[in-house]
Amino acid sequence: MTDTLEKETFSFQTEVGQLLEIVAGSLYSNREVFLRELVSNASDACDKLRYAALTDASLTPSQSFEISLDINSKAKTLSISDNGIGMNHADLLETLGTIAKSGTSAFIEAIKADEKDQVGLIGQFGVGFYSAFMVAAQVDVLTRKAGETEAWLWQSDGKGAFTIAPAERDTNGTTVTLHLKKDAKEFADQARIRHIIKTYSEHVSFPIKLGDDTL
Ligand code: ADP
Ligand code: MG
Repeated sequence: MTDTLEKETFSFQTEVGQLLEIVAGSLYSNREVFLRELVSNASDACDKLRYAALTDASLTPSQSFEISLDINSKAKTLSISDNGIGMNHADLLETLGTIAKSGTSAFIEAIKADEKDQVGLIGQFGVGFYSAFMVAAQVDVLTRKAGETEAWLWQSDGKGAFTIAPAERDTNGTTVTLHLKKDAKEFADQARIRHIIKTYSEHVSFPIKLGDDTL
């Protein structure tokens, strides 16, 4: 680690900020799709590491790929963890906040036209991560890139800004922790989460662990 690393604050790119306002501010009927999006990102991260290891043997993982879901019913948090490729500081800046993807404005237009129907399509616009803010008042992303030693904590309440700070993580991969909104505490319930996974994430090719079970 270099010695000058501290918590930094960044503003969301304008369109990302608009998207977050829309996503976080409304009550959608099918907001449980956030879990499909975060599990799909976890699965993509495992695929990316598997692919990267084909050309760089030093990245070959020592453990098999898996996604795990952890509920803290007291704290009302839900975490989605993977042991995939992870993100470094540059990846976090590029992918989570400061550079709007081409799908951002298309999604904003689509959702303005029909909120209820469009929210389920959020992943198709390449902005699925932000669906976390439908249910979370705060999102923490603790991540370490495969092949690197530094870990990072990205945090945001979705209200215009996010922070990135140096952190500790023993292994490569990412944990996304959702601090659930008051009206979204149902997502700290094991049976509810199991049902959502069965509904939307049956096709995922890595084991999904929830408590003592593999879904
Ligand atoms: P998409 O998955 O379509 O690219 P998302 O909004 O879902 O769009 O995710 C944005 C980006 O954030 C991903 O492309 C990826 O680079 C990064 N990302 C999100 N979650 C993870 C994760 N669990 N591990 C590694 N990278 C991730
Ligand atoms: Mg995605």
